[in-house]
Amino acid sequence: MVEGKFSEIRGWAAFEPGIKVKPWSYRPRPLGDNDVEIKIEYSGICGSDLHTIKGEWGPPQLPAIVGHEIVGRVVAKGDGVAGLAEGDLVGVGAQVYACLKDSCETCSRGLDPHCPDMVFTYNDNYADGKQAQGGYSEAVRVDANYTFKIPAAIDPVHAPPLMCAGVTVFCPMLKHDIKQGDRVGIVGIGGLGHLAIQFASALGAHVTAFSHSPNKREECMALGATAFVDTSDEKQVEGARQSLTHLFVASNAPANQYNEFIKWMKIGGAIVMLAVPPGKMSFSASEFTGSEVSLSGSLVGGVKTLRKTLDFAAEHGIKPIIERFPMDQVNEALARVDSGRIRYRAVLENPRD
Ligand SMILES: [Zn+2]
Ligand SMILES: [Zn+2]
Repeated sequence: MVEGKFSEIRGWAAFEPGIKVKPWSYRPRPLGDNDVEIKIEYSGICGSDLHTIKGEWGPPQLPAIVGHEIVGRVVAKGDGVAGLAEGDLVGVGAQVYACLKDSCETCSRGLDPHCPDMVFTYNDNYADGKQAQGGYSEAVRVDANYTFKIPAAIDPVHAPPLMCAGVTVFCPMLKHDIKQGDRVGIVGIGGLGHLAIQFASALGAHVTAFSHSPNKREECMALGATAFVDTSDEKQVEGARQSLTHLFVASNAPANQYNEFIKWMKIGGAIVMLAVPPGKMSFSASEFTGSEVSLSGSLVGGVKTLRKTLDFAAEHGIKPIIERFPMDQVNEALARVDSGRIRYRAVLENPRD
């Protein structure tokens, strides 16, 4: 068996529910035949990281190193790994394992994020019981199938947000076959939304950005939006009625706002939830029979979609707007994300040797 370079991995872990993390180290699981060890250069901060360590999605397994927008270099690989070499620049997203077998009902349909054996990048356990630890650290060991080469056209520091936020917005756009002639709305212009504008626009759609921050208008237009609706302005919201074929909800809008969103849809339109809003939704059936609007959710994308996301972003020059923080300022970065002040994604950087 191949030994990795790291017998101990140092990172920043949450020890109690909240947004504070502290230095901590753990002994990585043995480097399996199909595993790679990655020395991390950049790690994006995703909203899911905060939901997890705050305990908003249930009690996390502690200590927990979160972070699932990982970019770094391969420094070791198992004997069975083909197609990746030491020194390759690679990314890891929200998932680090699925069986990917033809006999698997979900994997065979390209739905590997729903594989019964799937392992999330953190706050989850491998089949051997070992806890998966994420990217706010110096290194990580993951399955080679979930290690993606970063195309040369993408600046490495711009790659982390594509690994989760990017694929999360692009996957349902592919599923809904977004194309020229579609009238796409994006609500919530943050980490997900500012990428969603770029992907939808590159697919040829007419894109309307919805935000309660009118000062984001110019930036949205520069990213490719064709129209902007200030949701704090009733008149503008009224003007958006029945204007959309698709609406991607990237904000943590309270569940009751969905009753308003339905009114923005053309007959037969589709609303897709990308974020996980707190609270329960309540609708009357007639809102759907009357509008023929459909409502669906989307998790992250699988192996194939992640590859497509990276290639499409490289081809169309899609890149996140980021704020950079040295890894040892992770607590400052988390506080800034938590307060909603980040424009639009935080990326942590490890020191170079
Ligand atoms: Zn994420
Ligand atoms: Zn499977």
